[in-house]
Amino acid sequence: EPAPAAGPARAAFKIGNVTVGEGQFVLMAGPCAVESRQQILEGARMVRAAGATILRGGAFKPRTSPYAFQGLGLEGLRYLEEAGRECEMPIVTEILTIEDIFAVSAKADMLQVGARNMHNFALLKELGKLDKPILLKRGMSATVKELLLAAEYILHGGNQRVVLCERGIRTFETATRATLDIAAVPVLKGLTHLPVIVDPSHAAGVRHLVVPLALAAASAGADGLIVEAHPNPAEALCDKDQALTREDMAALHAGLRPIVDAQ
Ligand code: PEP
Ligand code: MN
Repeated sequence: EPAPAAGPARAAFKIGNVTVGEGQFVLMAGPCAVESRQQILEGARMVRAAGATILRGGAFKPRTSPYAFQGLGLEGLRYLEEAGRECEMPIVTEILTIEDIFAVSAKADMLQVGARNMHNFALLKELGKLDKPILLKRGMSATVKELLLAAEYILHGGNQRVVLCERGIRTFETATRATLDIAAVPVLKGLTHLPVIVDPSHAAGVRHLVVPLALAAASAGADGLIVEAHPNPAEALCDKDQALTREDMAALHAGLRPIVDAQ
């Protein structure tokens, strides 16, 4: 198989006990937001049963409306930590502000910088000083180059454990919540040694499009996925329309196997 044209040596590193990069496909999954101790525990068991190895859950939520559920904050982080420990899964959660870094990095195995914060260079600089993997999501209107330069802010500070995430961008198309830029996967992999994963959930915006987009991302050579799943999507407090059910997670797991095995 030909190597990517100008592809530098690939980075591989650990997130908790899970390796990312190095041909190890990583599935991160969990609810958009931590809603209760029970919900995140059930969610963790559900995604683990479908092959996920890293648990996601937002405690500090960057909601478009200030009147929408903002997350449980530190309480949510405690529930997430508990669920991760119980299911033996490392946890990833979003970091919104510099002030929260100390508390969040004390509990989380990986810190997520959301699309809305990709341009928050002050936050990125602080994350560069941490000894903690960072999941850096592409801004909604950011070019590939801008994503790579945002990553540089973290790398330059000394933190080499950065995973890039394509999560859909804003275009004229309204049929999906965002337009998933599948081409960004091979493009990024030709330009950087960093692992590249895809979030099909926020691109799709609706449940039935998540699995097809996820499989497309895996086929395009992504190093992994991050998907939203909920034990009871109808009751989800955040992003309910795109939350995968237990059955959807099983379909994703089954669909991924032949693609990942072939790589
Ligand atoms: C999320 O992962 O819950 C999230 C808010 O994603 P994004 O930053 O990509 O919108
Ligand atoms: Mn979400």
